[in-house]
Amino acid sequence: MEQDAIETIYLDHAATTPLDPRVVEAMLPYLRDHFGNPSSIYGLGRATRAAIDRAREEVAQALGARPTEIIFTSGGTESDNTAIRGVAMARRADGNHIITAATEHHAVLHACAWLEPLGFETTVLPVDRDGRVDPDEVERAIRPTTTLITLMYANNEIGTIQPLADIGRIARARGVTFHTDAVQAGGALPIDVDALGADLLSLSAHKFYGPKGVGVLYARRGTPLLPQQPGGGQERGRRSGTENTAGIVGLATALTLAVGSLESDARHYGRLRDRLYDGLLAQVPDVTLNGHPTERLPNNLNVSFRGVEGESLLLNLDMHGIAASSGSACTAGSLDPSHVLTAIGLPRELAQGSLRLSVGRGTTDEQADRVLGVLPATVAKLRNLAAV
Ligand code: PLP
Repeated sequence: MEQDAIETIYLDHAATTPLDPRVVEAMLPYLRDHFGNPSSIYGLGRATRAAIDRAREEVAQALGARPTEIIFTSGGTESDNTAIRGVAMARRADGNHIITAATEHHAVLHACAWLEPLGFETTVLPVDRDGRVDPDEVERAIRPTTTLITLMYANNEIGTIQPLADIGRIARARGVTFHTDAVQAGGALPIDVDALGADLLSLSAHKFYGPKGVGVLYARRGTPLLPQQPGGGQERGRRSGTENTAGIVGLATALTLAVGSLESDARHYGRLRDRLYDGLLAQVPDVTLNGHPTERLPNNLNVSFRGVEGESLLLNLDMHGIAASSGSACTAGSLDPSHVLTAIGLPRELAQGSLRLSVGRGTTDEQADRVLGVLPATVAKLRNLAAV
């Protein structure tokens, strides 16, 4: 096979991460040999059941939860849907009102919207310029009919961390179930379900060096939850379907590894993120940071370059082997800024010129410097072209 001429500098870890080789090793026996259905009573089935039980204990331990509170799903999207639709429907007799925020992932916003034709109402709270929700506003939005608050731990585009513990306390005091989408926080921030005050919490393995297509929904004991995928009754009836044994083993291994190296990973990410940002500030005029300056994910840098189109920037970076992401998507020939950048009040021009660089375990100083050797000149070139 032909080799790639240039090594890819992967700066899109918020989109997905590569599999950790230790995770691959842990998964292989369940892809190769241990193929039994975990619900079967013979030895082959018992072996896979035991692996899932161990994985459940590991995940519970990592989150400060009980094993019975862990539900394995197909990823972040399913965990969010199971939580939001499951609680809304299970608590229907208590009310029909949900509170969320404008910068949530579409898995959350669309799950709330899906409920509306069924008689549910959603309050979508605004965020400030840094992307933070005001806990007082959450409290003011609570109605006698509010059954669920769903707010993310950290934002996937701009990295802003929400004041979750404060919101968790408000929810608890008012008898409202509290769900958090912690998909981007997995492997980057400490996650303890009690410290966060979460009744439900979503995670996805592919964001922390685990496999794609497998996730977790933590559901605190006693949380009302109507199953969204009825069937054979797996996961204590809360999520039916034959378990993805290898994926579950991979998720648990990846999460345990991520918790073990959380502090050193976060230091590594923060250092490289700051190196990139400082380098850009020094070399590029008119660059602004999107998201909160300090309350942000250590691996996330989101900046806007005035006078530059994000998609053109991405294509140019790709030619230099740099994989990154932008906050605008090209639809029908026009560049639509993302709902997140719109929600923080970014003017269209700046939203269109946004770039997200998300660093990872494999990112090096040398890679950061190579990006800094390319990006300023690329921005200058695109600005010149735009001027013409
Ligand atoms: N929630 C957030 C904040 C995310 O960043 C993502 C993925 O990008 C998801 C949910 C969806 O997760 P998955 O890709 O596992 O369905």
